Amino acid sequence: MSSKLQAIRGMNDLLPERSPLWQYFEQHVRQLMAQYGYLEMRTPVLEQTALFKRSIGEVTDIVEKEMYTFDDRNGDSLSLRPEGTASVVRAAIENGLLHNQTHRLWYAGPMFRHERPQKGRYRQFHQVGVEVLGLEGPDIDVEVIALSARLWRALGLIDHVQLEINSLGSLEARHAYRARLVDYFNEHLDQLDEDSRRRLNSNPLRILDSKNPDMQAMIEAAPKLIDHLDEASVEHFDAIKQKLDTLGIQYVINTRLVRGMDYYSRTVFEWTTTALGSQGTVCAGGRYDGLVEQLGGKSTPAVGFAMGVERLILLLETLELVPKAAEDILDVYLMGQGEGVDTQLLVLGETLRSRLPMLRAQVHCGGGSFKSQLKKADKSRARFAVMLGEDELAAGTVTLKDLRGEEPQRQVAVDALVDRLARWMDERPADSGLATQA
Ligand code: ATP
Ligand code: MG
Repeated sequence: MSSKLQAIRGMNDLLPERSPLWQYFEQHVRQLMAQYGYLEMRTPVLEQTALFKRSIGEVTDIVEKEMYTFDDRNGDSLSLRPEGTASVVRAAIENGLLHNQTHRLWYAGPMFRHERPQKGRYRQFHQVGVEVLGLEGPDIDVEVIALSARLWRALGLIDHVQLEINSLGSLEARHAYRARLVDYFNEHLDQLDEDSRRRLNSNPLRILDSKNPDMQAMIEAAPKLIDHLDEASVEHFDAIKQKLDTLGIQYVINTRLVRGMDYYSRTVFEWTTTALGSQGTVCAGGRYDGLVEQLGGKSTPAVGFAMGVERLILLLETLELVPKAAEDILDVYLMGQGEGVDTQLLVLGETLRSRLPMLRAQVHCGGGSFKSQLKKADKSRARFAVMLGEDELAAGTVTLKDLRGEEPQRQVAVDALVDRLARWMDERPADSGLATQA
């Protein structure tokens, strides 16, 4: 009996027709990180379950109900990473990166959460994140925000996203506030839903994040963390606001912003959009000064964020912000017919790639009529077709056809072909091709 094999629900294939769009986004990310001198870090997708329990927190949605956790053949409990920060911190401690050093790091890759799949929410999704280790801020907090803002500008998204910021204060201030909050919620116990009651003693701050409409008025009237911050955190937050003002980065203060991981302290922020329905957060992060020590390292301040690649790509598509050129994958299509031509096309392709390493050239394979080859050339969206027949072969030339029809078709020697293509490389739109963005 055969059953149809399928991908796991909520885990998507990236099909070739959409990969140029992802590469367009990824090229912008790489260029951005280079602009700020951030270095890439790669960590395994599997980690000990204990890492995420100790960092993200036992009583969080992620650890309680979203992780892919299983015992491996040795009986060790492992989990697919649901986010990147814990792994980066683990790796930094384990590899001795934190001895009086600072690090500005970035990562990109798949994350895994067992959530209900819907638009903008998947079980395997991708994040690009930055983590800065060893700096206390507020200057660096603003730098990572400015870095993200620069990406939105580069992608044309800046007018479609909004920055929300908040401060969670020091751990001590948060503990004191937490006690107040528990008192308040205890006074309104009858209005708490089941989830919130369960959280009351384990993670009362998360109740503030509840989306339950019946609880909104009661939550709105709860004491606000921002009114109970320690003095140093108030100064830190004020400095951030002032620097953002100076840089001309607009923000709103959202006093209910708490984030879903336990490790945050002081600064938290999110970039949100209204264009994607309820999955509106495209980037989120903050400061996590206690995490390194909590995971066994030397006390080290840190700040970072992660953005959701699927949501950003969805946003680019929804707003039709992808330049057409970003989808072009070829500059030249080589085609031809006749005795010995197929081999010579391969040779010519290799020659062109050697002489113009940034050129994107494809050789027609599989023969067929001249007409059908030309159709393929047109469909390839290459700028030029280079055509080879027995006559050209004998004359040592090729026929160059401008597929946009801006130049007359002509027969040229290979050297002249290389010259013309070299000029095209200088002219072609900046958002086409991996090479021009590297
Ligand atoms: P949400 O409130 O949407 O559940 P979150 O607070 O769980 O988000 P983070 O853990 O902070 O999200 O992850 C950072 C970003 O990663 C999010 O802002 C979002 O863009 C993206 N993201 C998180 N979970 C998913 C998912 N299941 N599918 C797609 N993208 C996701
Ligand atoms: Mg979530």
